[in-house]
Amino acid sequence: MSTRNEHHMVPLAVLLKRELNNEKIENPDILHGQASQSKKGEDFTLLKTECERIPGDGSTTFSVFGLFDGHNGSAAAIYSKENLLNNIVGAIPSDLSRDEWVAALPRALVAGFVKTDKDFQERAKTSGTTVTFVIIDGWIITVASVGDSCCVLETAEGAIYSLSADHRLETNEEERERITASGGEVGRLNAGGGAEIGPLRCWPGGLCLSRSIGDMDVGEFIVPVPHVKQIKLSTAGGRLIISSDGVWDALASEVVLNCCRGMPAEAAAAQIVKEAVGLKGLRDDTTCIVVDVLPPEKLTPPLAQQKKQTKGVFKSMFRKKSSESSSNTDKEYAEPDVVEELYEEGSALLSERLETEYPLCNLFKLFRCAICQEEMKPGEGISVHAGSENPGKLRPWDGPFLCSSCQVKKEAMEGKRLSGSRLRDGSESD
Ligand SMILES: [Zn+2]
Repeated sequence: MSTRNEHHMVPLAVLLKRELNNEKIENPDILHGQASQSKKGEDFTLLKTECERIPGDGSTTFSVFGLFDGHNGSAAAIYSKENLLNNIVGAIPSDLSRDEWVAALPRALVAGFVKTDKDFQERAKTSGTTVTFVIIDGWIITVASVGDSCCVLETAEGAIYSLSADHRLETNEEERERITASGGEVGRLNAGGGAEIGPLRCWPGGLCLSRSIGDMDVGEFIVPVPHVKQIKLSTAGGRLIISSDGVWDALASEVVLNCCRGMPAEAAAAQIVKEAVGLKGLRDDTTCIVVDVLPPEKLTPPLAQQKKQTKGVFKSMFRKKSSESSSNTDKEYAEPDVVEELYEEGSALLSERLETEYPLCNLFKLFRCAICQEEMKPGEGISVHAGSENPGKLRPWDGPFLCSSCQVKKEAMEGKRLSGSRLRDGSESD
């Protein structure tokens, strides 16, 4: 990364040109396809390959692939599809170098998810959605997720990675503990006579997921804070599969990867949906996005003819994966040096998620709320660390800062108080 001094010595235009030339040589080709079979019409996707990091500069593009699996209606999924990207980009200052931009993404994703959730809840519409949001810039892939629409990566070398979290209460003990500690209850549906049926749910509300965007009629400990994982792919490339739970419930991950091996992305997505629906029937909306990240000008799908011995590897990875901690448990199952893991964090606490290793002044504007980006008067912001374990150590300049409205949201997410919309009794939903 360039230092401030170098910026003064080399004209910015020259630096930019160098950077762009480098990117041109190194950037992969991105090919994508999607397929969907709809039962409720609550699945939505966002596929954008020409987003500009520097507005107006077409050589700084990055790609975005989002899957939104709605429940209790489609309003939250549609709202997230339309607003989430803007809210994420809006949380990144515009004057960053590419390296700084990539490093700022995990934090901007958290801010964007929380702002989208907060804005949507102010519209007082019910419904909620899972979100799996993939940003590809060069060979760096950043995945933010709430809910259970999983994203799996198979590298050209044959290693398989889960890049998303599974926020199902049934499978995620850490999240069950977080919700219980925040005042929620976790249990199964009572079928009468003491019989309990179905997956673990959170009460009030009855949601099977511990994180989502929307769901204003459910306890506010169902938070929109995403699990974020950032990796750097080798220049051999790989294939990403993002699917709603309809696919993963029907098929094991290696079956998903194998059933479309060698097919172009569009045909691969269709094949995956067909296999999933063929096996279990169309019980739910079933959607799949396939993204091939390819060495430049090598326009063939990776993994075309090879079948690596991955049997069992992914399953043990998945079971062991602790999605809510910044561990690197995946590493031991993958071949070394194939994928560089840059970042992983899943904590639900904003005080842990809005921190950054980068200099404060570079990465966010001091007098803007770190979530909603509203301007604040000096002294008006509330430190994101206020009310945490060691408030005594807090200094007036210990940001990042939140506006009073986002502070209310933060406390509600931590189970410390109810915000306005929650003061009434929510009706139970499935
Ligand atoms: Zn705010």
